[in-house]
Formats: sequence, structure tokens, C-alpha cells
Amino acid sequence: MSQGITIAIDGPAGAGKSVVSKKVAQALNYTLVDTGAIYRSVALLAKEAGIDWQDDAGLQAVVAGLDIHFNFVGEDNQVRLGDRDVSAAIRMPDISQGASLVSAQASVRAGLLDVQRNLAGKGGAVLEGRDIGTVVFPQAEVKIFLIASPEERAKRRHQELVGKGQEISFEEVLADQNKRDAQDENRALAPLKAAEDALQLDSTDLSITQVVTEIVGQAHKVLGF
Ligand code: C5P
Repeated sequence: MSQGITIAIDGPAGAGKSVVSKKVAQALNYTLVDTGAIYRSVALLAKEAGIDWQDDAGLQAVVAGLDIHFNFVGEDNQVRLGDRDVSAAIRMPDISQGASLVSAQASVRAGLLDVQRNLAGKGGAVLEGRDIGTVVFPQAEVKIFLIASPEERAKRRHQELVGKGQEISFEEVLADQNKRDAQDENRALAPLKAAEDALQLDSTDLSITQVVTEIVGQAHKVLGF
């Protein structure tokens, strides 16, 4: 295998990071790390243990014991905590809020740095998140900041949740998204913002294929193809 590079795909909730990252990873045969799923898993475990999502010391213990793995099963990038498949549980709306809150805690962000870097491994990797290009892998060879209009993002997330059988209105999804955007952009630690050297892509009027082709093209350029 040729030496792999690191591809950072950051941006707000619902900009299309998950589907785009998955397709880019598949196209290049790279490891895929969904860092949002890691914050979501911390929120889920804390909730189950009765630990408050703003209890920094309590969350530190959760992060220290975190045993998380990703596993491709067909088209799904399954999230496992030990032997347990939490892929569906971590997508519930209350866990989305919890993830946004735990991710503002210093001990959580610091403790998850090595977790994210270790999951990326030594070969080629695609990491999707909020601060991959700025904090986790500032040396990433390809940095993308993926955006889309708030309405378009909420529409996509709503369709995804309804498709998974959840009963939720578009307005609820939009309100939840606005709240999370504000929390993610305004927090003191690693706020959501594009790295200076990131390529900003607006997916509002682009198809998934167009976005994926652009990113894979960037990777090929770096790899000298
Ligand atoms: O991407 P996803 O919606 O699954 O992320 C859940 C939450 O985790 C985000 O709202 C954000 O607060 C947090 N997060 C983060 N840094 C990352 C990835 C996610 O703070 N790299």
C-alpha cells in the first residue's frame, strides 16, 4: 500500500461530513474515524453512569475507561464500546445535546486527543469532526471545511432521523441544530472554525459525488497521482 496521508473533514452538524467522509475513506481504502461518535459515546456512558454532562472530573473517568472501536459492516461504520454496538443509541437527540456539552469540557477534549490519533493509526486516515484540522491533526495534508445552509442541514438531518424511525419534526431538528451550532462555535476550547489552510466547500448546491470527487482529487494531488 502506498504511504497514506491524513484527511481532516471539519464542519457543523449536518453539512454532510459523515456520508462524504465515508465515501472518501472507501474510495482511498483509508481508515475512517468519526470523532463525533467518540464524543457521543462519552455522553452516552456518562448518562448511563449518572454522571452530569458538565462534571469535568466524572467525565475524566469515563474517558479514561473508554474502549471504542469502529467497524465497517457493509455500508455502516459501526461504533462499538467493548462488545456493544452503540451506533443507534448515540444518535438519539438527547445524546446529541450531551455530546455538545461534554465536548466543551477540558478533560474530555484533552483525554480524547490520543484516542483520536490512535484510532487514525499510521496509514491513511479520514477523520471527521470539528477541530481535526485545527487541533487533532494540524499537520493533515488535506483539510476540508464543509458547510451548508442551516435549513439545508436541518432538512438532511430530519430526513435521516425519520428514515431511522424517529418521530421528530423539522422545526425540532432545526432548533436543536441551532443550539448545538451556537455551543460549538462559542465554546472557549477548540471552537468550531475553519483552519486557515482549509479548503472551504459549500455542499448546499453540490451533490455528494461532487464533494467526494473534489476531496479525493485533493488527496491524489498530494499523493502525486
Ligand atoms: O458530528 P456529530 O454531530 O456526531 O458531533 C457531536 C458533537 O460532538 C458536536 O456537536 C460537537 O459538540 C462535538 N464534537 C467536537 N469535536 C469533534 C467532533 C464532535 O466537539 N471533533
